[in-house]
Formats: sequence, structure tokens, C-alpha cells
Amino acid sequence: MNNPYILPKNIKPISYDINFTLDMNKLSFSGEETIKLRVIKPTKEIKINADGIKITSAGTNGNELSGIKYEKEVVAVTFKNQIKTDINLFLKFNGKLREDMRGFYKSNYNVNGKEKIMATTQFEPSDARKAFPCFDEPNLKAKFKITFNIPKELAAVSNMPIKEEKVNRDIKTVKFEESPIMSTYLVAFIIGELEYLETKTKDSVKIRVYTTPGKKDQGKFALETAVKALNFYNYYFGIPYPLPKLDMIAIPDFDAGAMENWGIITYRETALLFDEKNSSVANKQRVAVVVAHEIAHQWFGNLVTMDWWNDLWLNEGFASWIEYKAVDSIFPEWEMWNQFLFEDFATALYLDALETSHAIEVEVKNPAEINEIFDTVSYSKGASIIRMLEHYTGENVFKMGLQHYIKEHSYKNTKTDDLWKSLETVSKKPIKKIMDCWTKQTGFPFISVSKNGSKLQLKQERFFYTDKKDKTLWHIPIAMNQNGKLNYYDMKEKELELNHDGLPNINSSQAGYFIVKYEKELLKKIVNDVNKLSPLDRFGLQNNTFMLAKACKVPVIDFLDLSLAYKKESDFTIFMDISSSLSEIGGLFYDTEFKKNYEKLVHELFYNTYKNLGWEENKKEKHTDLLLRNLVITKLGLNGDKEIIQEARKRFKEHLNGKKINPNIRGSVYVVVAKNGDKEVYDSLVKLYMESDLQQEKVRILSALGMFKQPELIKNSLKFGLSRNVRPQDILFTFSSVSGNPESNGMGWEFLKDNWKELFKRYSESKIMNRIINFTTNSFKTFDKEKEVENFFKKNPVPIAKRTIQQSLETIRINKNLFEKNKNALESWRFN
Ligand SMILES: [Zn+2]
Repeated sequence: MNNPYILPKNIKPISYDINFTLDMNKLSFSGEETIKLRVIKPTKEIKINADGIKITSAGTNGNELSGIKYEKEVVAVTFKNQIKTDINLFLKFNGKLREDMRGFYKSNYNVNGKEKIMATTQFEPSDARKAFPCFDEPNLKAKFKITFNIPKELAAVSNMPIKEEKVNRDIKTVKFEESPIMSTYLVAFIIGELEYLETKTKDSVKIRVYTTPGKKDQGKFALETAVKALNFYNYYFGIPYPLPKLDMIAIPDFDAGAMENWGIITYRETALLFDEKNSSVANKQRVAVVVAHEIAHQWFGNLVTMDWWNDLWLNEGFASWIEYKAVDSIFPEWEMWNQFLFEDFATALYLDALETSHAIEVEVKNPAEINEIFDTVSYSKGASIIRMLEHYTGENVFKMGLQHYIKEHSYKNTKTDDLWKSLETVSKKPIKKIMDCWTKQTGFPFISVSKNGSKLQLKQERFFYTDKKDKTLWHIPIAMNQNGKLNYYDMKEKELELNHDGLPNINSSQAGYFIVKYEKELLKKIVNDVNKLSPLDRFGLQNNTFMLAKACKVPVIDFLDLSLAYKKESDFTIFMDISSSLSEIGGLFYDTEFKKNYEKLVHELFYNTYKNLGWEENKKEKHTDLLLRNLVITKLGLNGDKEIIQEARKRFKEHLNGKKINPNIRGSVYVVVAKNGDKEVYDSLVKLYMESDLQQEKVRILSALGMFKQPELIKNSLKFGLSRNVRPQDILFTFSSVSGNPESNGMGWEFLKDNWKELFKRYSESKIMNRIINFTTNSFKTFDKEKEVENFFKKNPVPIAKRTIQQSLETIRINKNLFEKNKNALESWRFN
């Protein structure tokens, strides 16, 4: 074993007792720690993780220290004599609160205009070592007893309830109860001025939402949702929530969306808070989904934990799937499973078609590699293959299998095979045999379908955007709706022949993680009858066609023609997907003759729906109609619809004068007035940004600021994103906005190059970096740009974004090919 990042396995932690003292003036902390250790193999040296903190003293009972040596995120503590039996290791250490949203870090907030500081943590995947010396690997579970000495006016929260609190002069000592055994990455503590709302579940689990002062009322919706989600999981997993309390806390500066620390979930404010007057239904849905995701982890991830990060998908794929199940049970009218197709299924296929994608189960060794796999493959592809498996085994059998798995492995660690074993035991089906190819192979297949009399010929092949071929085959459970009945066919070989009358509906409900390419004549017939398909299958038909077009396996105009068959569509998710595919095509061909026809096409597809919905809500409207209204107004307003632009301007003016725009369409109005506005509109938006203390409103404005047509305003937006006025976590909304603006013409990339030093300093260890790289390069379509991007990152390597950079380069090549092969046909394309 030569990996310097991995600890030797001669010693195992049993429990930690840590006493922290926090100095809020110096923004520093010190700690005294006792770790009870089990000796597996006698040794003189104890290797323990520590990074960016200083160990000032070390000792064991009766053994003399001979040295402390710092290696790569590991500290080797050597003693004079061999350690043979279980011992206590005593350590003293100190460190500074970090500024990069990792480890033990500081976050700023405002109370009545006064700047305040909160000390908070983010440890996943391997940053607990930045707060205290520890055996920082997920399978080295131990118990934690934590104590904090803090200024007496502040509050402290951690994984467990408070056992004892004492004040001595200016110092408050807060002692927390000991936790059950758990992984280091799930430990958390937060110290600041806090207020909360509280409730109890019917099993007497205390649930709280904590916020900074003045915001607790915005936690009401999350609190109610958490109770319902907890009840749902108690029933679904068949094991009650394992801890005595569950806290959820909004952190002003937060790198990810949320973090499932056991018993104390941390969130970005946008993922937890809901303001009745200014948050939208989209914000509300986001809160519900994130709360449901993080609470699922309390079992799946925290109670049962992956053995090593190569199985991260077990945590994230699973939680990204069951979040829909929980929210669907709480809000059945939200049509969450339709939305799944856009949010996860299509997103996964979209990325996974790259040659530079990776398998779900992937070897990762160092922190940069570990950080990089928190990506679409682990989350969304993971969720999609779990959904495929649930369809295949049936809902109830799948649930029983999961209950078996959770029961069997509580307080332990698992590998992917353990999940398959439990599902096999319950379902009596060869789960591992089927699933191995989906988790161990990269990519997914497309199935070509042709009809020969009463026979259907199916052929599978790995799907690439490029013309690369490989021989990978999958074991595919193919769901097919025949006369209202769902049948399954096993496709294990390259080809499969089926008896079939009538029109085939391969991959019914889009249950399987693959796409379908019907031969031309067959497709025509299916499209003629598109309205007879379920929303899920209507989604699949257009989405698969877009994917095939992007891969130049069918002409782009085939997709445009097909999209016209969706003129009478009313499903929000389908519109969302068509809209996003069209934006991609519209952006790529923005500087060609196609632009005018593109705008006409958008009008043709979206105007009817806009007319039906209008600007005003009525009480009977569905949740998804509220989302749809925002979408169609945006889409039409960005593509030159005069009626929309005029109305948006009128409403924006009234908004500035105090007649607030309904938050459900506020985002679309901001975007439309920005796209069609000048410096005055820009300044008004910035003013609104500065005046609001609601993060969701700030994000809405950042998302509009990149949409202006004037280059100097786009530049201003980029500068603004990097200024002190925008929290470092939110810069990606500026980049995403500029990236979605075809007028910006690579300005995001120029800005990245000009400000590389600062961006690298801030984000070199954050996944935000991966998003920035993607946003700033994904619209390029020339060989020169490909080389430029490649050379830039050769000179300025980013270990956490190694794969992202490869994927960005491949995307540029795909754009180039797509552009060259379709330009002429698109320029002469008309619809009638
Ligand atoms: Zn998660």
C-alpha cells in the first residue's frame, strides 16, 4: 500500500473526547483531545489525520513521546516504547477559523446592520482533519463526546443534545451528550447568535430549525416538511430515527447545497428558508426536496455508511432517488416523478454520454479525486439506476430489500454488493448480475428499434455524442407497455427479437437508463400518436431525439420538427426539457441565419401556453402551472416577444415603486427586463440586490444580471459577482447567467483568465470551481478555443477539476461537430 493519503490499519479509534475553546476575537480555536484506541498490531508510531492545524503536545498513559512528523494531511506521532494494548492518546492542538467554507470556518451575517461572525463546519469528505486530529476515513467509526468553551452570549449546537451548560464569567461551557458510533465526516458544530423554531414528531423526536437572528419565521415550512419526511422514513425504513433530536440550521456561507451531519443538518439559506412574501413556489419545492434528501441520509449514509468513497454513489444516488419518493408522498400534486426525468434522468444521460464520463463505482485515492466524484454520475445516474431497479423488482419488494439492508448494516459500513445481496435475498432475482454492468461500466446504451412484420428487432450499442464505437454491452431490463400491461424483456446480448403487433413503446415510463432510436418510419407513426402516450413517455420521445441529434445520429431539424408535435403540450417538465434543448441549439446557432426562425419556433411552441396561463394566478392552479408560467414568460421574453417584454417592463417599474411582483414570476420578469434593458435597469437590479436580505431574491437577481445585451453591462455583472457584495458561494449564479446569454460571446472565459489568481485562491478545493469551468467554456465551438482552454489548464492545473476539464474539451469538440454538420440545413429550415 503506497498511498500516502490512507492511514495504516494497525490502530482503530473507539471514542473521542474533545474539549474546544473558541476565541472569537482572534478567530482561532484550541483543543484538548483524548482518543481511546484499539491496537490491532503493536506499533511505536500512530498515524492520524491533521491538516492546517498544529499539534502542540501528544502523549499516552505512561509512554514517552519521541517525535511528531507532518506528512500529506497525516501526522505521525512516535513514542519511545511499543504500544501493545488499548490506550488513550492525548493531544493538544490549535488552529485558525478558515475562510474557504471547509473544515472549521467562519461565516458572516448581519444583525441590525452590525457585522457578526459564526463559526461552523463542513467536513465531508475529508476535512474533519482541518478541525481536530482524527482518523478521518468513513469506515473508522467511533463515538464522539464534544465540549465547547465559547463567549457566553453565543449558542453552540452539535450532533447530540446538550448535556450540561455552565457560565463562568464571560465563558460558557457547553457539554454535549456522547454520540453513537459514527464517521468523522458527519461530525458538526456551529457557534453563533442563533434563534429557532421547534416541534416534536409523534415519536417525541425534537426537531428544530435554527437561523441567524430575525429569520426564524422563514424556517416554518422546512420544519413542517421535516416532520412529515421523518414520519415517512420511519415507515419506509422500518427503523425509527436513531438520534434523540434533529436540528436543521441555515448557514449564511455554505459551499454545497446542504450537508447531512448526523442530527445537525447544515443548509444554504436558499435550501432551508422560505419567506411567504418573497420566496417562489420553485424555492419552496427546492426546500422540500433538499430537506427530504438530507433526512434520508440520517439512515442511508449515517446509520449505514459506505466503506470508502468509491461507493459514494450508495449515499448520493440513493438519497437523490428517495427524495422524490418522500416529497411525492407529502405533496402528491407536485408531480415529482415527472420532474425527476428532467432534473436527474436527463441530466445524467446528458453527461454520461461523454467519452470522458466515469463509472458509478470508481477508484478514488486522494482528497481531490474524492471531491470530484460528488458529481452528476454519483447523484443523478445513481438515482436513475435505483429507479430502474425499483421498477424492475416492484415497489414493495424493493422497500423490503432496503429494510433488510438497513437492519443488517446499522452502525456499520457497506459496499455496493451488500445492497445487492439484501435485494436478492428479498426479491429472489439475480440483482447483482443485472446491476454490475450499470455501476461498473461507464456510459449507457441506445437501443435501435426496427420493425419487420410482426417482429421487432432490437440492437444495443454504447451511446456517444462522438462517432466513437466500443463493444460494451449491458444487461437491460426492458419495460414495454403492451395493451395496458407492463411486460419486461431481458436483453443480455447485442441483439434481441420480439414478437409484437401495433406500435411499440420501448422503455415505458422511461424506467430504464438508456435511450431508444426508432427507425424513421416507425418514429413517424409514434409521433402521430404522441398524445396517446403518458407524460413520462412523451418526455422520453423528444428527449431521446434531442440526444440523438446532439450526437449527429439524426439531423437537428428532425428534433425541431418533432418539437412542433408538442405544441399542445401542457406538462411542465416536458416544456422545461424542450426549452433547455432549444436553448442549447439556439445558443449554438445564434450567429447564423437560423436565429429568426428559431425565435418564430419558440413563439409557436410557447405562446399558446402563455395565453392560457396569462400573468395572473388563480387559486385553482396546479403547482406545476405556477412553475410553467415562469418558464414560458422567460422563454418568450428572451426571444423577442414584444407583448411579454412590454408587460414585464411595466411590472418591473411598478415593482420599483412598491407594488411587488408575485415571487412566482419575479425571476422571469427580472430576466426579461435585463435582456431588453439598459444601464438604468442594471442599476435598479443592483439596488434591489443590495436592499434585500433574502438569499433567494439575491440569487434571482444574480441570475438576471448576466443577461444584458451590452458588453459593458455583462462585464459589470461578472465584476459584481466577484465583489464583496456577493457571497463567494453565489458566484456560480453570475457565471451561469452569463453562460446562458448568447450575446456574452465568451466573456465569462475572458473574465476567468483575467481573475484566475483570485478564483483559484477561493475555489481550488471547491466543486464550485468545476461549475465555473463548465459555465465559462460550454458554448465554445472551435478548434482554436479548444486548444486555448487546454493550454490554459496545462499551465494552471486544477486537481479537483481534472475530469471536468477533459469533459469541457470534449464538449467543445462536440459543439464544433454539431455546428458544422447542421449549419446549412438549419439556415434553410422553415416550419409551417
Ligand atoms: Zn446527499
